[in-house]
Amino acid sequence: MTMRRDPSTHTTKHIFITGGVVSSLGKGITAASIALLLKRRGYRVALQKLDPYLNVDPGTMSPYQHGEVYVTEDGAETDLDLGHYERFAGVECSRASNFTSGRIYSAVLARERRGDYLGKTVQVIPHITDEIKAAVRLFDRPDVDIAITEIGGTVGDIESLPFLEAIRQYRNELAPGEALFIHLTLVPYIRAAGELKTKPSQQSVGILREIGIIPDALVCRCERRLETEHFEKLALFCNVRRELVFEEPDVAHTIYEVPLELADQDLDKYILELLDLHVADLKMDDWRDLVRRIIQPGRGAVRIAVVGKYITLRDAYKSIYEALMHGAAANDVRLDLLPLDSEAFETADGEAGAALAGCAGVLVPGGFGTRGVEGKITAIRHAREQGIPFLGICLGMQCAAVEFARHVCGFPLAASTEVAPQTPDPVVALMDEQRNVTGLGGTMRLGTWPCRLAAGSHAAEAYGTTDIQERHRHRYEINPAYVDVFRRHGLQAAGTSPDGRLVEMLELPAHPWFVACQFHPEFKSRPLAAHPLFRDFIQAAVNRRDARAAGQP
Ligand code: GLN
Repeated sequence: MTMRRDPSTHTTKHIFITGGVVSSLGKGITAASIALLLKRRGYRVALQKLDPYLNVDPGTMSPYQHGEVYVTEDGAETDLDLGHYERFAGVECSRASNFTSGRIYSAVLARERRGDYLGKTVQVIPHITDEIKAAVRLFDRPDVDIAITEIGGTVGDIESLPFLEAIRQYRNELAPGEALFIHLTLVPYIRAAGELKTKPSQQSVGILREIGIIPDALVCRCERRLETEHFEKLALFCNVRRELVFEEPDVAHTIYEVPLELADQDLDKYILELLDLHVADLKMDDWRDLVRRIIQPGRGAVRIAVVGKYITLRDAYKSIYEALMHGAAANDVRLDLLPLDSEAFETADGEAGAALAGCAGVLVPGGFGTRGVEGKITAIRHAREQGIPFLGICLGMQCAAVEFARHVCGFPLAASTEVAPQTPDPVVALMDEQRNVTGLGGTMRLGTWPCRLAAGSHAAEAYGTTDIQERHRHRYEINPAYVDVFRRHGLQAAGTSPDGRLVEMLELPAHPWFVACQFHPEFKSRPLAAHPLFRDFIQAAVNRRDARAAGQP
């Protein structure tokens, strides 16, 4: 039965974004850009991603499979597109913002085992599709004007069918003007023919139509700009109004150009008209200024090394690279990012020095397992001894503790028990809460935890306060038994849990800028509000660059 809402009550409008032709078109960035524009027009926007794969969440997946795992305030391990949502649109995501087929199926199967279906046959339609619709409906809330739901995967995949069927039904249950479909597609340039081709988009829209979805608008990713004939052809063959065909060409410098590109075509204005919503003015001056600072900064470039084990993957350290970019923009410098493979540091002494020569800052990111750890330790030693600004994150902080214990405190066999369970000096170890955990999914210390900073520390100076909240994703902790010996040798617990039990930050007060944190500050950095630690890390790196240029050591 179709349920029409009482028009006097608040209505959340829905935008569903599908993707066609190929994956990796940047649906997340497009969804996030649209959200930013609608928010700037004065609407309260929520974003959600539905992922067709069967893992319950991406928390257990390798970065090779999935890129970074983005952690929300409420501790959900989610798709990295949620990072784009939070960064572009400043919309806080939560567990409700990311559902996978695995999560949907687990809920239905748990209900079936409990007997909640009262003897019925449990089926994809209606039971799985109802569960998907319930996930979308989580955003039908008085505090949400427009909910944007991105369907992961590519139209035509077997596994995305239940999601497409669910959104088809969802829209059917709404009054006209309450929902719309946007299809992101590819218009490839065929070099040999010297032409842009619209056929793949026509076919992808054809598949959507077969399952009952008629897109209201097309956003066309393209290497070259579309001509009038392409817009007209796409409109005709895809059954979309001419003015609702948009182009999204590859951006030259930064993904933060995408919202400006879409705004220049009034995409958000057309969306609001389709949704019967008032179109207020759009102000993007600060955003344009941000893009200018990224493209043409006033203070030159600063080279930052990121020493990790997934450096060949652009997506594995996504939020870290973005946060570095925000920190650089805040300092009006260009980020010259140098990703370095930590395993390469394990081959010979002295290599760290050569690889890091010319770097004004070294960042060691998070990670799991043994591979690459010794190389990270070598790189950190170099940064510590040479006075190079250093930011260690999660495993990066744990490695900094091991390095300091080995080379300064005189514990040559110090290690994390994650790497060496039998070490005589477990400077990083499991706390009681984690000792008996057996399952891997969703069992780490996750999400937001409070932290108290030591007054006068670099961290307190960066944040401008001593009480902070940051997001975590780890099992191991600095072993509190070593905090005293660290302090005596010059490594300070600059941040702890409010009860003082857990070490959340380490710093070397005698070093120009050596700061490490157990949490992941990168998740909270925003383009127009760089995270304080990233901002000050880049600032320290610029200071080092300038001092070196002036001939100081
Ligand atoms: N492997 C470490 C732990 O579980 C660090 C995790 C991380 O860097 N995110 O504690």
